Amino acid sequence: MRYSLSLHVVGLVCALALLGAQRAIGWELSYEAYHAAHLNEAISLDDDDNPGSIGNNLLLPFNRTRVPGSEGSRAVREFIVEHFNSTLAGEWAVETQPFEENGYNFTNLVMTLQNNASEYVVLAAHYDTKIEPAGMVGAIDSAASCAALMYVAQFVAHVARHERATEQARLETEGPVVTGSALGVKIVFFDGEEALEEWGPEDSIYGARRLAAQWLADGTMPSVRLLLLMDLLGSGEAEPMVPSYHADSHQEYQLLNRIEDDLLFRRSASASESSPLAAQVARQRKRLDPTDYRYLALGRAVVDDDHTPFLAAGVPVLHAIPLPFPSTWHTVRDDFRHLDAAEARHWALLVCEFVVQSLRARAQR
Ligand SMILES: [Zn+2]
Repeated sequence: MRYSLSLHVVGLVCALALLGAQRAIGWELSYEAYHAAHLNEAISLDDDDNPGSIGNNLLLPFNRTRVPGSEGSRAVREFIVEHFNSTLAGEWAVETQPFEENGYNFTNLVMTLQNNASEYVVLAAHYDTKIEPAGMVGAIDSAASCAALMYVAQFVAHVARHERATEQARLETEGPVVTGSALGVKIVFFDGEEALEEWGPEDSIYGARRLAAQWLADGTMPSVRLLLLMDLLGSGEAEPMVPSYHADSHQEYQLLNRIEDDLLFRRSASASESSPLAAQVARQRKRLDPTDYRYLALGRAVVDDDHTPFLAAGVPVLHAIPLPFPSTWHTVRDDFRHLDAAEARHWALLVCEFVVQSLRARAQR
């Protein structure tokens, strides 16, 4: 992706009303026991636990180049598809969508939660890497986001299975969140986000342009309530933060921000004391900054990325990307030594809870 900051700071809006106005007591992460048992193993830079095998690790298989049409691209794509087809069998419909453009073979992966929804929140990241600089494995661009989405997929599958296996009476307080929602989830792994030679409208976001055209043609686009696009996440650098970019998704940005605040600052005393996740969650930095209104005030996109054709089609977009970009961006230093697995886990938790709360809000009672 590319960004342009032609305008100066438009002005800082005082957002004291958003800060600390509500201090919920005893907030608890949904299905915390599942995360405590699986998150660290799934998103880890450490394969010592499984000598000779990467086991259930969702991150390490991305530690290679993934240029469209290459062997690395094929291997990683097979790894993603295998995860959905075997581990999560029956919960997600898997579509592989190959196409050719500009002399290259690309393949988008589109996964759809099978819960009979009529509207969708779409979670997306790109799995390809740039041709130059040679050898760049794109740890933050965007291996970490892809691994986080694969974890979200297995978490949602777990919740769906749990709901089906649990007597209705025991779910009665709120009913089934995932299996009973009118809102569904699609997870998209875009190919060809990066330019092959030089970034431009004809040489970038190949997969996103293709899928947007398809969804406009087949009538899927109007059913997309939100596109949550994750990119350049997982850097351990203290800055930058992820601001809100688009007014028509600001409400969802605020939900994600509230979840981050809850996770970092408002957990119940009992959860904080007993949960194995507590210590690591508390160490995380805040990544969302609801006091930064600079880009909202511009009223136009400042970052060109996979969301562009969906924005043009009128889809609300929550763009989870830091600005300015991390210092390793588009260099060979964007490798797994510069990746912070705890950051990737932080985003995985945020998005899992975001999905639960979004689906719960659309429960069919
Ligand atoms: Zn990039």
